[in-house]
Amino acid sequence: MEIYQKIRDLSLKYETETAQLLSKMIQIPSFSGKEKNMANFLKTQMEESGFDHVWLDDLGSVIGKIGNGNRVIAFDAHIDTVYPGNLENWNFPPHAGKIEDGKIWGRGASDQLGGMASMITAAKIIKELDLNQEFTIYFVGSVMEEDCDGIAWEHLIEEDNIRPELVVSTEPTSLKIHRGQRGRMEISIEATGISCHGSAPERGNNAIYKIARIALEIEKLNNELTVDPFLGKGTITTTILRSSSPSQCAVADYAYLQVDRRLTHGEDKELAVRQLHECCRKAGVTEAKVKILEYQQAAYTGKVYPVEKYYPTWVLPENSSYLEQAQAAYKLALGKKPITDKWTFSTNCVSIMGKHPEIKCLGLGPGDEVEAHAPNEKTRVSDLSAAAAFYAALVAKMNRN
Ligand SMILES: [Zn+2]
Repeated sequence: MEIYQKIRDLSLKYETETAQLLSKMIQIPSFSGKEKNMANFLKTQMEESGFDHVWLDDLGSVIGKIGNGNRVIAFDAHIDTVYPGNLENWNFPPHAGKIEDGKIWGRGASDQLGGMASMITAAKIIKELDLNQEFTIYFVGSVMEEDCDGIAWEHLIEEDNIRPELVVSTEPTSLKIHRGQRGRMEISIEATGISCHGSAPERGNNAIYKIARIALEIEKLNNELTVDPFLGKGTITTTILRSSSPSQCAVADYAYLQVDRRLTHGEDKELAVRQLHECCRKAGVTEAKVKILEYQQAAYTGKVYPVEKYYPTWVLPENSSYLEQAQAAYKLALGKKPITDKWTFSTNCVSIMGKHPEIKCLGLGPGDEVEAHAPNEKTRVSDLSAAAAFYAALVAKMNRN
């Protein structure tokens, strides 16, 4: 029988098992920085599924290896989820993991424990059909993505020295192939003033007025940002505003503004920071301090791995040979032409292809992006087997090229 037909048949044979694995994962709460139980559960799962070697790295990500080839590729699923939020918005318990009506229901079903379940099934298929000769393949369950996209992979690349030629993200894509996303930054702007008694404001210099003028320049900047035909428009908006003063009856001597900047194709941190300095200049507050924020929360292992909150844009070109092989593998395994698209949200690829352009990224995952972070999250059982078939078929295709 033709190999891609065998892959598809096996993915369907293991479909119920894959759904049950996802259901079990949903029953293990695994919020960012608290993934210990999930990582250990997956380590055991991978060992039982016949991976060649499974381990946890210092940041707590779980890594399962197959093969010993000279070429290296990887599949990535982040294994943390966001909190359920207001339980009144849920029609069922978010961590029950029920399987019903051809769907698996619960927090993380789509974003993105389903991708992890499909990856483990794909690895089993790759082993069973002996699809891999040429590659070392890492299947990564990465930590802390919801809090700091890319941190786990920055660590895998820079500290663990895992440098694949291609990483497939399994974040939800509704089974489309994704080849890019906008980047993002978190930036603060601080202004200082001189306080005085609120009854005579003319004696002081109010930091709130300074930051307010900067905020209005940022509003104008948003209208002027570039539009990319594939990724869309770069955006900027203000998110947090704080100030302080010696009392309620005093002019504010400090003000803090935080912005969320989304970077489209061609925009980087140097440009974004320069534009904010320009906003300060136009507001007449050249002395304001513009700073890219830093993430320094501890992983569940206790390790602190500080990273700048700069998550660069990445786009895999339309004529990339990896994209062509992915499209061909999709057609061979699933019998139809894939749709190629992009993510609206951010993924671990920001630190993979975004910071290390020599490592290419593309994505395909079970479930829908709109389910992410929403109540009543769910994913389709049929997506799980289709994604598993695609991952195995991609390995088969790359080995046969
Ligand atoms: Zn996600």
